[in-house]
Amino acid sequence: MNDAEGNEPLKDFIRDRVVADMAAGAYPGVVTRFPPEPNGYLHIGHAKSICLNFGIALENSGVCNLRFDDTNPAKEDTEFVESITEDVRWLIEGWADSVLSSEIFFASSYFEQLHNYAVQLIRDGNAYVCDLSLEEWESYRGAPELPGKESPHRNRGVEENLDLFSRMRGGEFADGEKTLRAKIDMTSPNLHLRDPVIYRIRHEAHHQAGEAWCIYPMYDFTHCLSDSMEGISHSICTLEFEVHRPLYDWVLDHLPVPQPRPHQHEFSRLNPTYMVMSKRKLLQLVQEKHVHGWDDPRMPTIAGYRRRGFTAASIRSFCQGVGVTKFKGITDVGLLENAIREELNKTAERRCAVLDPLEVIIDNYPEGQSEDLEAINNPEDESAGKRALPFGRRLFIERADFMEDPPKKFFRLGPAREVRLRYAYFITCQSVEKDGEGNILRIHCTYDPETRGGSAPDGRKVKGTLHWVSAEHAVDAEVRLYDRLFTEPEPEAEGDFLDCLNPDSLKIIAGKLEPSLAKLSAGQRVQFERLGYFTPDPKDSTPDKPVFNRIVGLRDSWAKLANK
Ligand code: ATP
Ligand code: MG
Repeated sequence: MNDAEGNEPLKDFIRDRVVADMAAGAYPGVVTRFPPEPNGYLHIGHAKSICLNFGIALENSGVCNLRFDDTNPAKEDTEFVESITEDVRWLIEGWADSVLSSEIFFASSYFEQLHNYAVQLIRDGNAYVCDLSLEEWESYRGAPELPGKESPHRNRGVEENLDLFSRMRGGEFADGEKTLRAKIDMTSPNLHLRDPVIYRIRHEAHHQAGEAWCIYPMYDFTHCLSDSMEGISHSICTLEFEVHRPLYDWVLDHLPVPQPRPHQHEFSRLNPTYMVMSKRKLLQLVQEKHVHGWDDPRMPTIAGYRRRGFTAASIRSFCQGVGVTKFKGITDVGLLENAIREELNKTAERRCAVLDPLEVIIDNYPEGQSEDLEAINNPEDESAGKRALPFGRRLFIERADFMEDPPKKFFRLGPAREVRLRYAYFITCQSVEKDGEGNILRIHCTYDPETRGGSAPDGRKVKGTLHWVSAEHAVDAEVRLYDRLFTEPEPEAEGDFLDCLNPDSLKIIAGKLEPSLAKLSAGQRVQFERLGYFTPDPKDSTPDKPVFNRIVGLRDSWAKLANK
């Protein structure tokens, strides 16, 4: 059965596993979670994880929890908690909102229970307080092919460990002075099992928990137990956690957690071309002002795409099209651009705008006169209807649509040539007006009144059709043309990723728009005929001073470059 958006049912190894688990009665229901760390904005890679976790919950009448994995007080912030919540809601709205848990979860709200579990591990002889410094520990831990050396504190008695752990919590020791370690196996080929740290001392306030704690649990201890406390059935994460899975299982198998317990499943990260995905690098772009903030429309963040004018449906369609595998590869960002282009081709109304204006005077059109012509809103959707488009003696066309000395294959305007103005008339260029330096100031044309609407009663044809706006009625707007932020498909492949920043990733242009565009509000998307898809910038556009973002061009200009 197809889903609500008309897509075919998705199938991949994780979905197969969920279906098999449910058929075997392994869990009472499917519960997944999306567990971001609130240390940055969500990016398109997170969108893939959201689509997978919410999608699986939706397909299995389950629930998906939004949980903040907020156990590191140093890098986390409530600004990120807010932006992430907003982005998740936006991305699933109208699709999977019914499976989002009513409560938002925070790993930090489990600090007390996690602490109790840690005490339980100590009591059972499965954890100890270690005094080795980080540097000392590096040499104790060994390497994959070399067994590690046991910490001199590994065999401390239970009472001593309980006492030291409670003094760690009480704030008696400085950062790094002591840690709590799980007592597992110093000879394991998996370094994650060589007595990993599960608690460390950090004298730092936490954005949720305040001043309550100066010891903080580590990811590997926190994540599996948070999953367990929330009744997660399938804990889905990216491949780099595959080597952590034995530790995930060890913790749950050594504590009295409710059964059936969660299991972890890994898939490969999304890595689109011409982008960086690491939050550290995205933060660097923001902090060093290579972009204007996390929601800069050039950023691969959900907030950036939303501001640029991408729809949630196009992002979901892209993520679902990429599929879920264990194969580490890169994904052509052109697929994302195609997804929004395809959607907008069907839904966006057409409008006229001139981004590089050349003035045209229609010499035989009466001065002071104007008229309304009829323009089709969307050739792909008859129900979108028609609108009035004003025409007058003074017009703007694109500078690139005129050549004084055109080559043979140029079918647009040139001296003594006739073209169609879309929805209007045939015009013929009569003369070119220049300044003292030979720059073209404006051109003079005549129009044929018999061709109103765009066809000649005598059946004569023209090869070119141009878009235009009436100068008298045009609305001035700032138009922001975005391009890819990096010039290399894999900016992280070699050297510093900043070396391949695209200097032309943003061009700001003063455009002339047909008057109906002044009324467009944030969230409305249109096609500027022959130019691409545009939307008012939700932050900067005002009725007095419209600002438009280019969402995407009409075709993939990068594909053309690659084939040259
Ligand atoms: P960092 O960039 O700091 O390593 P992260 O990308 O791992 O952070 P988290 O907030 O820990 O960010 O991620 C939340 C969830 O999103 C995790 O389950 C993670 O596996 C998943 N995720 C993160 N990046 C991607 C990606 N590129 N593709 C698919 N899933 C991702
Ligand atoms: Mg992470």
